Amino acid sequence: MVFENTLEFAQKLDAQDALAPYRQQFIFPQHNGKNVVYFTGNSLGLQPKSAQKFVNDVMNDWANLAVEGHFYAEKPWWDYHERFAEPLSKIVGAKPSEITVMNTLTVNLHLLMASFYRPNATRYKIICEEKAFPSDQYMIQSQIQFHGFTTSQALVEVKKRENEHQLRIEDIFATIDAHANDTALLLMGGVNYYTGQVFDMQAITKYAQERGIVVGWDLAHAAGNIEMQLHDWNVDFAAWCSYKYMNSGPGNASGCFVHERHHKSNLPRLAGWWGHNKERRFKMEPEFDPVHGADGWQVSNLPILSLAPYLASVELFAEVGMPALVAKRDQITAYLEFILNDVAQKTNGNFEIITPAARASQLSVFLHGQGRKLFDYLMKNGVITDWREPNVIRLAPVPLYCSYEDMFRFGEILTAGIQEIN
Ligand SMILES: *Cc1c(COP(=O)(O)O)cnc(C)c1O
Repeated sequence: MVFENTLEFAQKLDAQDALAPYRQQFIFPQHNGKNVVYFTGNSLGLQPKSAQKFVNDVMNDWANLAVEGHFYAEKPWWDYHERFAEPLSKIVGAKPSEITVMNTLTVNLHLLMASFYRPNATRYKIICEEKAFPSDQYMIQSQIQFHGFTTSQALVEVKKRENEHQLRIEDIFATIDAHANDTALLLMGGVNYYTGQVFDMQAITKYAQERGIVVGWDLAHAAGNIEMQLHDWNVDFAAWCSYKYMNSGPGNASGCFVHERHHKSNLPRLAGWWGHNKERRFKMEPEFDPVHGADGWQVSNLPILSLAPYLASVELFAEVGMPALVAKRDQITAYLEFILNDVAQKTNGNFEIITPAARASQLSVFLHGQGRKLFDYLMKNGVITDWREPNVIRLAPVPLYCSYEDMFRFGEILTAGIQEIN
């Protein structure tokens, strides 16, 4: 499609957009009486209007039923989390039994590593990407030390080439080959949080597993953003947070995937009563008998008040479906790219898109020169984006609620900002 940087053209795209009505189902912060242009759905998704009711329902059940809400609430609390398995399995390409919801992301990766990072004297290394999200770096380092190794012995980072912003798959493969005999685990982000690069998880999983390496993925920037087939790709385990693309609310619960082939294994795990055989959970037996399925990794009974808004959002995703989201995602991201290039050309703007072609709903823009001032100008003028050192703003035109008109308005504000600063 040939794009145009005009209001009429942007509005024409909105009029043709099958997902446009979903914008009305979200609450936007206001700037001078208008919705902000919201580019940080990759960091904290907007609040679905339905979320309040889901939370109120739990509050009311608690008020009216108190302890009996565990069994007699309209959505009983004791198996509330099971409502997520079916819709989430479609979002990440899994069987419902492979999905559970619990805790938060880093906690879950630790719990999953308790089962899946089992280093011994010969295989003990972990391969991850250079400059992984800080929490992942700390987590991996601490796991290595927890097992009595040092990071210089056991941590292997795939590096970018000089002057390149993306990780090349051939370099990932080469790193796997170089450490094939002593690596226990490969754990990477499926979509890089900084550049927005999407990794070929299927190929990397296969390559590493063929060399005897267990493979896990941190899907913080992938869940609700890209289509995946975790089951068919034979991924061992994965986890994601729900407050980014999945709009569940600040700091909210994490989803986990554990491949079916591990469900009946005797993998050691850090257990708790919520992972115990459902029928016998309240018999208070001394011996742990794990649920077959990802639910067998549950530890505690769940924070229902925080699951409630997550469920509201998951129901929206189930209604829309990933294929429709992905179709709009690609078009609106391409439109944003077009606007950025058009503005750069017309203003001699000194910035550069560093997101590679393998991308989803994010363009990371390296602002040379006046970076921080331009960022501040955008934020003061109703464009919500975020700043990542040294000089990058990340723009995520989330397909569920961003409009093409937003992209046009952003282009106008960006142009005005560049002109004012220069
Ligand atoms: C956002 C994000 C996290 C956040 O972890 P929490 O435990 O939810 O605070 C972790 N890893 C990656 C890759 C992220 O993008």
